[in-house]
This record gives sequence, structure tokens and C-alpha cells, in this order.
Amino acid sequence: MIQSLLIANRGEIACRIIRTARALGIRTVAVYSDADADALHVRMADEAVHIGPSPARESYLVGDRIIDAAHESGAEAIHPGYGFLSENADFAQSVLDAGLVWVGPNPHSIRAMGLKDAAKERMIAAGVPVTPGYLGADQSPERLRAEADAIGYPVLIKAVAGGGGKGMRQVDDAAAFADALQSCQREAASSFGDVRVLIEKYIQSPRHIEVQVFGDRHGQVVHLFERDCSLQRRHQKVIEEAPAPGMDDATRAAVCAAAVKAAQAVDYVGAGTIEFIADASEGLRADRIWFMEMNTRLQVEHPVTEAITGQDLVEWQLRVASGEPLPCTQADLTITGHAIEARLYAEDPAKGFLPSIGTLEAFDLGEDVRVDTGVEQGSVISPFYDPMIAKLIAHGETREDAREQLADALDEAVVWPVRSNAGFLVEALDHPDFAAGRVDTGLIAREGAGLMPPAYPSEEALTAAAAELAGPAPLAGFRLNAAPRRAARFLLDGQAIDIDFTDAEDAEEAVTTSVLISEGGQTWALAPFRASGAAAGGAGDGAILSPMPGRVIAVEVDAGASVTKGQKLLTLEAMKMEHSLVAPFDGIVAELNAEAGGQVTEGALLARIEAAD
Ligand code: ADP
Repeated sequence: MIQSLLIANRGEIACRIIRTARALGIRTVAVYSDADADALHVRMADEAVHIGPSPARESYLVGDRIIDAAHESGAEAIHPGYGFLSENADFAQSVLDAGLVWVGPNPHSIRAMGLKDAAKERMIAAGVPVTPGYLGADQSPERLRAEADAIGYPVLIKAVAGGGGKGMRQVDDAAAFADALQSCQREAASSFGDVRVLIEKYIQSPRHIEVQVFGDRHGQVVHLFERDCSLQRRHQKVIEEAPAPGMDDATRAAVCAAAVKAAQAVDYVGAGTIEFIADASEGLRADRIWFMEMNTRLQVEHPVTEAITGQDLVEWQLRVASGEPLPCTQADLTITGHAIEARLYAEDPAKGFLPSIGTLEAFDLGEDVRVDTGVEQGSVISPFYDPMIAKLIAHGETREDAREQLADALDEAVVWPVRSNAGFLVEALDHPDFAAGRVDTGLIAREGAGLMPPAYPSEEALTAAAAELAGPAPLAGFRLNAAPRRAARFLLDGQAIDIDFTDAEDAEEAVTTSVLISEGGQTWALAPFRASGAAAGGAGDGAILSPMPGRVIAVEVDAGASVTKGQKLLTLEAMKMEHSLVAPFDGIVAELNAEAGGQVTEGALLARIEAAD
């Protein structure tokens, strides 16, 4: 067994690899960029080596620097994780040439599966069913168009070098072909430096079914059953599960056998995934499942397979890389229960899923389900890397059991002030089609706004938080029959909001700063309207406070100016988003404490409007 391992990655996967390596008694070496100096994976590893500036192309993607780091730290082996250099055959070769152990397949296997057209040719030769389509060398627009016509619309144009859902265009009829081809080629050129495309039949009611395979250096290849990753947003996986709903034994046997055949065709060693696309218009059927591509690495969603098989796939990888035979034979592997994984992203569903950055002042995913994460409370989400911050994996006796566990865990998630998609994931898990196992890759796009979590907390949560801020009710008033009404103005995530909390349960004592409201996977902060800065200025209701730390990018009014209700006063930039602050009523700008370019803290009094009488 190898004694030391450098992990050429970051975030949750680096932490997850370190965990298993440590359990096996292997010394771990992390690498990190400037932005990750305090990251969890750096603190978890036995040793850490700085490899460069924050942008990945200057650090995590610099192969030579990573190999140097392995030599400096005396690491024997390199685990690439997923993404970054994991499917880079040249890097794998350089690792081997440097006399190090590569925890992954042979470079020639990576190359064989690297381009979608060559991979499909290879699979056809091996007798694996592939999606019907055109893979030819003739890339003239006329020929491609003629092939699309012959396949029959709708078709999918795919960049042969594509990946990560990029470089794909669906074309519904002949008239749309030319434009779609051009735009696909443009994206292929800029993202992958290779304009070649292939054309595939667009599968109706498509389901994404993939099979985990594993090979060793002794010629054995096994499969660890299938995963269903049909719940996707823009061709990116959102929720994954194992086994696939509605998969019968005969169909499973056929697709898993095809996957093993595919892996054997490229002498596969280590963890790999064969991705298939299924036409599920009449359920899953063996003759309607086709090879799509192979991922020659560990997948993000490997934990659902670990859950149902009881195996540790990173341990398998490290054993195989050390030259040991696979820990299990095919006959030893069985499916127990059902597992579902959800990917938690630092992004704001309400703002078109824009990435959200900043410090995780509150971060709690509970302990009821498996959580694989690379961050903790206090971590900073930087703009440099993938916004996935955690994976939650539930394992139950039945699919329904796993689904409920996962929905409950996400419902209670607290992520603040960074935005997350937890509320969106709760909606997706609770969607009647998902709950019934009726999944296909178009579900999220079809449902659109229907999966958006509520914009505001429930009235119940708001009034309870308001009562908590306000403290105990004053003693009953002198009007005998009327209970005193309790209402006040608060700031909900920086926006003024009037809450009548007469009916809320009385609080024991007042909370003076702010309270977090967590509900349905979403978190809001409720603060008294007269927050810090405002109090200092003795400002009344016309206080314009900074809703978050940020930079003033424009001041639209002068001190002393008359303004009307709703008129824009200034614009702030915070977390890469712009926020306009407007006059709450007609009046004059009695105070102005902001200038363009200035930094402001949360709650700072930026301006004060005095009402015009
Ligand atoms: P990438 O390498 O960019 O991830 P894939 O070829 O794996 O691209 O396809 C990504 C997703 O696109 C699949 O999971 C599926 O949802 C959809 N897709 C791919 N090929 C087809 C097809 N022929 N018909 C319908 N959907 C497809």
C-alpha cells in the first residue's frame, strides 16, 4: 500500500479523499492556491503545499507545479479527484514519468475516452449500443445538415471535445440547423479549442443512467450497479440516486454488462463511469439504453453507490493504485436500500442561480444524513471555483425513506448570508413527479418557476422572529377589552418590512441585534429597523442603511436635494451584485455619508431622508 498521497484538488472531494486515506494510515498532502490558504482541506491534511495564485489555471491546473509539490513533500502518489486535471491524459503521463503513482486509469484509457466521437467508434467496435448519430470526419455544414435530416429531428449537435454540459445544441427542425451549428462551433472553439462536432438523435423522455465500474491491474473489471442522474438543470446534475427507479433485474443486468464490456475495451483500471442515455417513454428497456460517454475518474455522485453497496470507493482506488486486486468480486456485490444525493450550491435561485460569494457566517447541515463538504462556518466562498459547497446523501430502506430524510435535512439547512439552492432542492425533492420516481432530464426546465422556493419566510416564522427581537410585551393597556397591538418596522435582509406580531408567542427577553429565520432550506436575517449606524445618527424612519458590506458604485443625489418616494439614491455593489437604495418617502436628503468608490459596512447609515410635510 502507498504510504503518502498528494491530493491535486480542493473542496469537498479533497476532504473526502483525505478522510479515507487517513483511515488507511496514509500520510496526506494538500495543495492550495492563495484563496484557499485557510481552506478546510488544507487544515485537514497532514501537510500542505502552496501552488500559486487563486485562479485555477495558475494553481490547480498547473501540472508541473503539482508534481513539484509531490516531490517537495515526499508524496508517493497523486489523486486528482474530479474536475481540474483528473481527465488530462498528458498530466497522468507526466505523473508516471516523474516516478509517482497515479491514482487513476492508464493515460491511454483516458485518451481513448477523451473525445466523444472516438469513444463512440470504440464502443461500436466493442459491441456496446451507442446513441444513433453521425460521427464522420466530413465536417462541412452541408454534410452535417444532410446527416441531421437523415437522423430525423430533433437532433443534438455535440462538440466532440465537449464536457460539463457545454458545447451542445438541441435542434428541433431543419430550419434551425445552420444557426445552431454555428453557435455550437463557436462555443466549441472558445471552450475546447476544437470545432469538430457530432450529431445525435435527440432522445425523447431521456433519462440519464450511468454505471459505476472498477478495474484492477490484474485484469478484473466489476460494476457497482447503476445511478440515475436524470434530475438536471441545463445538462448539469442536481440530484442523483441509486438504484434507478423502475429498473428491473433484466434491464439492470444488460446495462451493467454493457458497461463492463465498455471498460474492458479500453483496459480500464480504477474507478470509472459509463454514462448511458435511456429513452424512457415506455419505462426503462434494455434495447432503448445507449452509451453516451465514459468519465475516467471518480464521479461527484459516487457516494450514492457507496451507500447502497457498503463499499468505500476511494479505498478501492487507493488499493488498486497500490497494485492490489479489487477488494470484491462481482458476486460479492449487492444493493441494499436506496440512496439519494443532492448537490448544495452557493448560488441564488431567485437571481437566475447566480453564484453567491462571501463569508459563511452561519452554516449548519445537521447530522442526520451523510454530508460531504469542503467548508464550515466561517469559511469564505470565493469567486474562483465551482460553487458546489456540499453534498448531502441520504440512505434509506426504500426510495421514499431516503427522499424524506434528504428533504428534511435540506429543509433544516442553515446557510447565511451566502445564498444557497437548498430551498430549490427541497422543492425538487417534494415535486410529485420526483416523489413518484417519474424523472427525466427535462423535469426542472419544464417546471421552471414551480420549483422556486418562496421569496419570504412564512408569516408564522416572521412574527415569531419579530417578537423575539422586540422582547416581552408591555403590560396590558388600560383599554380593557382590546389587547394591545404590537407592530413595528424591521429589516429583512436589509429591506424594510412592517410586521404585526400581536399574535406571536411572547418572548422572554429581547434580542438586540438580529435573528436568523431558517425555513424550507432558506435563511433570512431579521433586524430591528434602527440598526447600529442609524442609532448613532439618531435617525428616524428615513435612515438609509447599507444592507450588507459592499462598495458604493454611484451616488445619485446631493445632500439637501428634494427626493420623491422610490427615487434612486445610491447604488451598492456587494457579492458581485448591484443593489439600488431608494427614498422611502418624499422628502429632502438631510444627511449623506456615501461617496462613489467608498467601502461600507453592514448597517452603516448612508443617508437620511427627512419627510417633507
Ligand atoms: P457532457 O460531456 O457535456 O456532460 P453528455 O454527452 O454527457 O455531455 O450529455 C450531458 C446531458 O445531456 C445528458 O446527461 C443528457 O441529459 C443530455 N443528453 C446528451 N445526449 C442526449 C441525447 N442524445 N438525447 C437527449 N439528451 C441528451
